[in-house]
Amino acid sequence: MTEATPGRLVVPGDLLGTAEEYVPGRGTYESDGRIYAALLGHSRVDPSSRSVSVTALHGIPELDTGDLVLGRIEELKSAMAIVEILAAHPSSRTVPGEPEGTIHVSKVKEGYTESLNDELAPGDLVLAKILDNHPSIKLTTAPPALGVVAAKCQRCHATLELTGRSELVCPRCGNREHRKVSADYGLRMSPETG
Ligand SMILES: [Zn+2]
Repeated sequence: MTEATPGRLVVPGDLLGTAEEYVPGRGTYESDGRIYAALLGHSRVDPSSRSVSVTALHGIPELDTGDLVLGRIEELKSAMAIVEILAAHPSSRTVPGEPEGTIHVSKVKEGYTESLNDELAPGDLVLAKILDNHPSIKLTTAPPALGVVAAKCQRCHATLELTGRSELVCPRCGNREHRKVSADYGLRMSPETG
C-alpha cells in the first residue's frame, strides 16, 4: 500500500495504511488493523521508526456570519438547497469536516423564486455568504457577485458556458439551462477541481 505518501493532505477517517506496514503515531488512530487520520492535516511517515503521523493543518478559519464560502449543491428540496461547504473564500483554505449548509428558496436570488430547480442544480459550484452559523449554517446567493460559478449540462455533463445574464448553454449538445449565476461565473474553476 502507498496511502501514506509524505505530505499528503488528509481528513479525519482517511486510510493511511495498515498496522502491518506502519506504527500509528500522533494524529492517527487504529481500527481493525488499519490506521486512519484523526485530524485534518498532512500525513508523514518516519522511515526509521515506520510510524505514520498527521500534523494538524493550522489556520483553518472558523466559519462566521458574513464569510464567503465555496460550496457544491448536493440536493434540492422543495424549499431549500443542501450545500456541501468546500472552502473558505477567497483564501481557498479547505473547511474541515465537510460541513453542510442550506440555501432557503427565499435567499437564492433577489425577489421571488418560484422553484429552486430554475436557479440551482445538484453538482453546481456556488459562491455563497453565511447568513447564520448557529444552530446550522444558512447561506445566501442573492447578491450579484454570488451564485453559481460552475455548472454542468444536465444532459451530457459538459461544463456550461454563460451566454446571457443568467442563461447557460452547453458547448457540446446545445442544451440551454438557467441558473442564478455569480458575476464571476466560469472564472474560477470547473466542478472537477472542487
Ligand atoms: Zn450538453
